[in-house]
Amino acid sequence: MKKTIKYFYWIGIFVLLFGLSACSVPQPKTEDTINAEKHTADFFAMDTYITMTVYDAQETSVLEIAKKRVLELEEKLNAEDDDSEIATLNHNRNAVLSQDAYQVLEKALVYWQTTEGAFNPAIHPLMALWGFPTGKTRVPTEQEVKTALALARPDKIVLTDEMASIQQPGVQIDLGGIAKGYTSSELIKLFRQNDIKSGLVNLGGNVQSIGCKPDGSPWKVGIQHPDREKDYLGILETQNEAVITSGGYERFFEENGATYHHIIDSSTGYPADNGLISVTIVSPDGTLADALSTALYVMGEEKALAYWQKSADDFEMILLTQDGRLLVTREIAARFETDMKKEIIEKTA
Ligand code: AMP
Ligand code: MG
Repeated sequence: MKKTIKYFYWIGIFVLLFGLSACSVPQPKTEDTINAEKHTADFFAMDTYITMTVYDAQETSVLEIAKKRVLELEEKLNAEDDDSEIATLNHNRNAVLSQDAYQVLEKALVYWQTTEGAFNPAIHPLMALWGFPTGKTRVPTEQEVKTALALARPDKIVLTDEMASIQQPGVQIDLGGIAKGYTSSELIKLFRQNDIKSGLVNLGGNVQSIGCKPDGSPWKVGIQHPDREKDYLGILETQNEAVITSGGYERFFEENGATYHHIIDSSTGYPADNGLISVTIVSPDGTLADALSTALYVMGEEKALAYWQKSADDFEMILLTQDGRLLVTREIAARFETDMKKEIIEKTA
């Protein structure tokens, strides 16, 4: 079993195990919750293990529809699938996009601006250079990094009506840092449209829930420990939220004793090395949580904290630093259980 797959397997186990534990805030039971039965689906897509759980009174086809939706989004957004809309855009430099691809790209460009380039949807030339998409990983020369860096230019991506164009040859889009969060948000939307009151999706550790468990208690999500494969940093109680983590430990290779991971700092062209080893973003908006988990990982502690301070109240976070400190924002601190010492982050203004 590949190392990354093994991680996702354990993350899945943690979520499922802790998703079944006791209630901290009991809610009144309704007929729906009393009769709710558990339905699950597991499959491999988007390069990861996906598990979906819903509680519903009857046998439900919603999981079949949800699975089709994941595959549909993968086909639209995956730059490595030659037939996808994003691959077509990368190849032809012009494409008419579906609403999904357009929206994700539009949001990705917004996060590129708000994060001052830390989230970079034009990272594909660098990802390709380091060999992550093909698995043929290697450390490039400085000159190669410089050449690819000159192509990591989101300002060359232009959106008009449903059309997208790339205005410089060689600039290529990679939505790998945001697509799973968009997908989890879309699945939750689908559950809602199908009147599901309780459910959880887990896309390789990117988790989003609808409601709480049928007994009224919150879901419990284990956050993967970056260094200890079968262990977790802590457990977060959550409901109606996305809990999305980025870390270099998720995908990496080793060469000559050094480790190189898959989140690239587009100010240098090298794997981000700014003092953080894991960033978890908690938000009702899965797309936001995914984009920001990647971006804040690239930013490092100081800039990540400054970004959180100046943002409105739409996300919370858990940061693990290279020197072993665990920073947790105030709003989620009480519902994040961990053996480690928590440094609580407060809003200053
Ligand atoms: P995540 O696990 O959400 O942090 O996403 C990591 C993936 O995002 C990588 O595998 C790349 O596909 C893509 N990526 C890498 N670096 C960046 C970056 N600086 N900005 C946006 N996406 C990135
Ligand atoms: Mg992300």
